[in-house]
Amino acid sequence: MAQMRENKDDGLIRCDACPVLCRIRPEKTGACNRYGNFEGKLTRVDPVVVVQKALDEDCELVPFARASEEWDGSLISQAPTFLTGIGSTTTYPDYKPAPFIVSSDQDGVDMVTVVSEGVFSYCGVKVKIDTDAYIGPEPAPIRVKGEQVGHVTTAEYGSQMLAIGGVRHLTGGSKKEGMVTCNTMMRLCNKEPVEMTIDGGANIIVQGGEPPIINGFKEERMRVGCGSATVGIFAPQWKDHVDEVIVVDDHITAVLSEHQAGQFLDMPLAGIRVRGRRSTLGRYFQVADHGAGWGGTDVEDPLDIIEKIDEDIAWPGLRLLMVSTTGQDSAWYVLDDNLAPQPTKMPQEVKLVVDRIGENCEPALCTVMFMAGAGGSLRAGVTINPVHLTRSVRASETQVTCGGAPVFVWPGGGITLLVDVNQMPDNSFGWVPTPALVAPIEFTVRRDLYERIGGYSDKVKNIHDVISELGNIRSVPWRENHPWPPEGMARKDKV
Ligand code: SF4
Repeated sequence: MAQMRENKDDGLIRCDACPVLCRIRPEKTGACNRYGNFEGKLTRVDPVVVVQKALDEDCELVPFARASEEWDGSLISQAPTFLTGIGSTTTYPDYKPAPFIVSSDQDGVDMVTVVSEGVFSYCGVKVKIDTDAYIGPEPAPIRVKGEQVGHVTTAEYGSQMLAIGGVRHLTGGSKKEGMVTCNTMMRLCNKEPVEMTIDGGANIIVQGGEPPIINGFKEERMRVGCGSATVGIFAPQWKDHVDEVIVVDDHITAVLSEHQAGQFLDMPLAGIRVRGRRSTLGRYFQVADHGAGWGGTDVEDPLDIIEKIDEDIAWPGLRLLMVSTTGQDSAWYVLDDNLAPQPTKMPQEVKLVVDRIGENCEPALCTVMFMAGAGGSLRAGVTINPVHLTRSVRASETQVTCGGAPVFVWPGGGITLLVDVNQMPDNSFGWVPTPALVAPIEFTVRRDLYERIGGYSDKVKNIHDVISELGNIRSVPWRENHPWPPEGMARKDKV
């Protein structure tokens, strides 16, 4: 718990919950707005959050969606309760035990959960944007208010990826860069929209759980696959209604009759050659530049990517479909007597398959993952012998959660975790002006194992006693798709 030192003359209180050591005037809050000097006491402004299993009158679990609508934030006395790190206070640099070390009974097994807010200067945010729209080149700087806060990183299948934050931007540049980076990460992690610009690329608004807004347009669809995948999926459905399909894509543009799929279906070559570098049969890279046109390219008129039509192979009346990987752009042509493509009304059977591309696209979406290293001094708030905590996490004896949400712990050294912020309660994150991000973290372990790893056994208090002493508390419903940490860990055999 944060402690205070009072100056009797001017009423100032010093907060020691982080190294900034704010001296807070009466009725004011410290730099992070999390602590205030009220009625002469150092007071945590925001509530501690507990997660509770919502039960109906038959003691059946109430689904999260229903419970979250009905819940007014008050505590339910009989419901199973998990104390989260949200609002629990920070102890960085962790020269004392964590703010709360609570015991609970799980099926007759004595469990311990160590609860804290971590102060993370080694942390970052990974953003996955499901869209075929081009946002900028790798590894272009990403800026907020003119400051670089991250960069565009390796695109994944159907998704653009951003790496934001990290210690270099937080503390390795100017003070302003660090503060803007910290604020950007906090807002993203708290599920707020953040506007960013990418050097040589787009202006984007990112918000976890929402579609991206790219250059002012709200994106709708994630592509069904690259051009080659799209041809592979839909070739049998096109075969009887077309002579050629060209799927325009920023990665791989595909030409059906040349493609393996067309050959498998015994389709004759159509003699339409597209620009770009041929990779393998019917698969072309770099048919155009990146841009806001068809399939994440700069193509506005799809005929621009046709390099030539071979008069020895093509024929008048040849039916050509050009389509993007989301099906949002499409055009139907028939070659005239001069083998020039003439725009024509698309037949219903072909339109049906184009619509099916759209039907198979998932919605455009931003996913925000918080990534942080909890393998440093934070461990000293859990045990006097920190490496034993690391080994216990590695051995899956100790469950790590953030605000009650499950995390992925990277293999290898340290406790480097990754968590989907949309699985965490709202406003889970704070900041301190060192600058660093403040995030909730909980370690749940069987009590006998906690003692064995060197835990602070003399600091363990019953969860109900702790909760009854807390004045400012908010309850949120447990998500039924999350494991209940004490339950899983209670079953662990001794190792
Ligand atoms: S920044 Fe916040 S946590 Fe740090 S000393 Fe000031 S009030 Fe306390």
